[in-house]
Amino acid sequence: MAKASEIEKNNGFEMGNPYYCKECKRNHTKGKIYKDHLNFASFENNTEEDNLDENNELNNDDYDDEEELINAFNEIEDRENKIEIEDQLVDDLELKDVDLDDEDELNREKSLKECINAVKELPGVGEATLNKLIKAGFSSLESIAFTPPKIIQSESGLGEKTTEKLIKSSMEILNIGFKSAEDVWEHRKNIARITTGSQELDDSLGGGVETGSVIEFFGEFRTGKTQIMHQLCVNVQLPRENGGLEGKALYIDTEGTFRPERIIQMSEGLDLDHKKVLKNIIFGRAYNSDHQVLLIKEAANLIKEKGVKLIVVDSLIGHFRSEYIGRGTLATRQQTINSHLHDLLRLCDIYPDLAIVVTNQVQSKPDVFYGNPLQAAGGNIVAHGSTIRIYLRKGKGEQRIAKIVDAPHLPEGDAVFSITENGISD
Ligand code: ADP
Ligand code: MG
Repeated sequence: MAKASEIEKNNGFEMGNPYYCKECKRNHTKGKIYKDHLNFASFENNTEEDNLDENNELNNDDYDDEEELINAFNEIEDRENKIEIEDQLVDDLELKDVDLDDEDELNREKSLKECINAVKELPGVGEATLNKLIKAGFSSLESIAFTPPKIIQSESGLGEKTTEKLIKSSMEILNIGFKSAEDVWEHRKNIARITTGSQELDDSLGGGVETGSVIEFFGEFRTGKTQIMHQLCVNVQLPRENGGLEGKALYIDTEGTFRPERIIQMSEGLDLDHKKVLKNIIFGRAYNSDHQVLLIKEAANLIKEKGVKLIVVDSLIGHFRSEYIGRGTLATRQQTINSHLHDLLRLCDIYPDLAIVVTNQVQSKPDVFYGNPLQAAGGNIVAHGSTIRIYLRKGKGEQRIAKIVDAPHLPEGDAVFSITENGISD
C-alpha cells in the first residue's frame, strides 16, 4: 500500500480531491476508503464512461464510504442503546426485594459464582471492576458473552482488551463458538433452501433462504421485509424441485401486519390452491415481548408434530425495543433478547431442516457496505448468532435492493428484486 504522501508527490495530487477508484469502479470523495484506496486512484481516466452504470446512466453516487456507513450504524446503535441508568439502579433495588423460588435463587447464585470465578481469573480485573460489572447487570457469563463489547465497556468501565478477553473466556466456558469443523460440516451438509421468488435474491443467498441458521432481513419501513416473510410462507410449501421444502410455516406477527389476502395473491401467482396454503401457515400474534418469547417456546413443540419447516418472526425486537425504554436497562433487555434469540438458534441446532427468518426495522440509511462495518459498529445482538443478515433498501418503484452482510460464504454485491401483486419476483 503506497503512502498517501507518496501518491500525492508522484501525481501532484492533493489530498481531499475526489478521485476515481479502479478497485471499486467509482469515485471516492473522503473517508477511510478514500485514503486506503489511494493507490487505486485514477487521475487521468476519470471519464464519464467509467461512471456509467448498467443502465448507461451517469452514476454520480459519490459516497463518503465507510464514514457515512459507520455514522449510520452508530445512529442505530445509539438509538438501540438508550440506557436509563437511574432505572437500572431502581431495578437493582427492586430485584433484591423479589422473592425468588428456591430453585431460581440457587440457579442465580450458581451462575453468579461461575461468573465471578471466571472474571476473577482474568488479568487486570480487580474487585472494583468485578463489582461494577455485576452492578451493571452482567451477572452471568451469558450476559457477558452476548453483550456488545462497547456496552460492557461503558457500563463497567473495563478497557477494550479486558472486555475482549472477558467475552472470549465467557464464550469458551459456555462452549460457544468452538466445535469441530466436522460437526459444522455435518450440519451444513444437510442445508436445504427455500426460494424467495427472485432468482437474483436467491443467488445472492447462495440458492435461497437456508435452513439451519437464523436469517435476518433488516431495513427501513416499506422495504419489503414483511412481503418477503409472506412469500417464504407460501414458498416453503412448494415441492423441493420448485424451491420449497414441502413443509408448513409458523408465523409470529408482532406488528399486526400479517395479511392472508397477500398469501392468497401470492398463492395464485404460483397456481397454488390458496385454501391449502393458508391452512399450512400456523399463525401467532404476539402482543408483547413475553408473549413472543412464549410463542417461540411453544413453537418448539409444533415443529416435529406439524412438520414446520419455516419459522417467521416479524419483527424480532420491536416489542423489546418499545417495552424496555425507561423500564429496564440495556443489559436486561439485551439478556432477554439474547435468550430469545438463543431459543431460536437452539431450534436451528436441533432441527437442521428448519429455516428461521426474522425481520428488524432500522431507520438509518447506509448506502454501501465494505468489509464488516456492522461488526465494527457493534451493538447488534443478532450478529453474535450463526446468522445471515440481509440489508434491504428501496430502489425505483417496486424495486428493492438486498445486500448480504456478514456472511462469509456468500458473494458480495446487490441483488435487485421486485414486489408485485403476485409477490416477490425479479
Ligand atoms: P416492511 O415490512 O419492510 O415495512 P412491507 O414488506 O410491508 O415493508 O412492504 C410494503 C411494500 O410492499 C409496499 O410499499 C408495496 O410496495 C409492496 N406491496 C404490498 N402489497 C402489495 C401488493 N398487493 N401489490 C404490490 N405491491 C405490494
Ligand atoms: Mg413489516
